[in-house]
Amino acid sequence: MHDGRIGAREAAARPRRRLSPLSIRLAATVLLLTATSAAPAQEPAHDADRQRIEAVVGRLASPAMQGRRGEGAEKAAAYLVDEFRRIGLEPLFDGKFTQPIPGKEPGTVQGTNLGAMIRGADPKLKDDWVIVAAHYDHLGVRRGVLYPGADDNATGVAMMLEAARAFASAGAPPRRSVAFIGFDLEEIGLFGSRYLVAHPPMPLERVALFITADMIGRAMMGVCKQQVFVLGTEHAPGLRAWIDEAARDRPVRVSLLGSDVLILNRSDYGPFRTRQVPYLFFSTGENPCYHSPDDRPETIDYAKATVITRIIRDVARSAADAAETPRWNPNPDNPLAEAATIRDVLKELLGNERPLKLSGAAAYLMRSTLGDAEAILGRGAMTPAERARLIQSTRVILLMIQ
Ligand SMILES: [Zn+2]
Repeated sequence: MHDGRIGAREAAARPRRRLSPLSIRLAATVLLLTATSAAPAQEPAHDADRQRIEAVVGRLASPAMQGRRGEGAEKAAAYLVDEFRRIGLEPLFDGKFTQPIPGKEPGTVQGTNLGAMIRGADPKLKDDWVIVAAHYDHLGVRRGVLYPGADDNATGVAMMLEAARAFASAGAPPRRSVAFIGFDLEEIGLFGSRYLVAHPPMPLERVALFITADMIGRAMMGVCKQQVFVLGTEHAPGLRAWIDEAARDRPVRVSLLGSDVLILNRSDYGPFRTRQVPYLFFSTGENPCYHSPDDRPETIDYAKATVITRIIRDVARSAADAAETPRWNPNPDNPLAEAATIRDVLKELLGNERPLKLSGAAAYLMRSTLGDAEAILGRGAMTPAERARLIQSTRVILLMIQ
């Protein structure tokens, strides 16, 4: 995930509303109902998927890969191309697994996107595409200190390889063609994905769905252990049914958010969003190890990363095989579930007020925003104005705590 911090913090003082006793009662009912929902089934604790994910993360975050910059990035690219070959994929870029990204000076190369594919088998759908992508670069070695980037984004790359393996070893080929892409230079303003969108290996209007994951092995602020955040369904609401299906009975909560909760495009979905390609962005969010030398493999929650990988794999398969896929919706359709996501996160953060050393101002804004979210959920409806206020407060809270 690239550092989207902006210089000026938004000041968003806003009037605090009082809740009516009725909305408090309704909100309490919703909370009770939520709390009594069935416990999810257990996933196998040690399994082959998880072992492969651990191996990929361990390899990409090892000192030999030098935080996947410079020579380390070249080594990582060679390793990933070997994996593409071992899985039995075809090259994506005119017979090659690599797409060099030219540097400023003529004849120079500043990075390399990686890509592989499985051809679709349906005569009518095989020219349509699903893309599963993750960036493999990270921050490198700075002043002699290694930034291993285990979560950012070795976990996402491990997911991409697992999805590829699942498609390659499934009994039947997908109906649509599926591309697996490793982006370079994400940490430098999404340069790799911007370059690919400008020089796409397939017509972008034939991309039915672009899915990327960036950081899927930790917990937001170290405390939102249950959640994976999913952005992008507002532009293709039909994707929600596939996500629900893929996440059913799994011990991770899929938490929907509109992409506008982040002020900038923070990962490789950005260039696809700009081109109005339906997309999904999965992330467990910023955590205390984000962009630090502590982003090491031994502190990843592999059980969680494995579950999220399976969810993404299943959504990709649905998109590859469905008779129809959701089209781009230019007017964002924001579900009520977004207010539930914000409520859940705020409750988690406020429940850890001391360990997180929340400032009084941050805690105050969180409580007030939590009240707003609960009132919205209690009424079972959210107006555009209420949503705008909720998102604005959430953005300010994110800026205050990160
Ligand atoms: Zn990053």
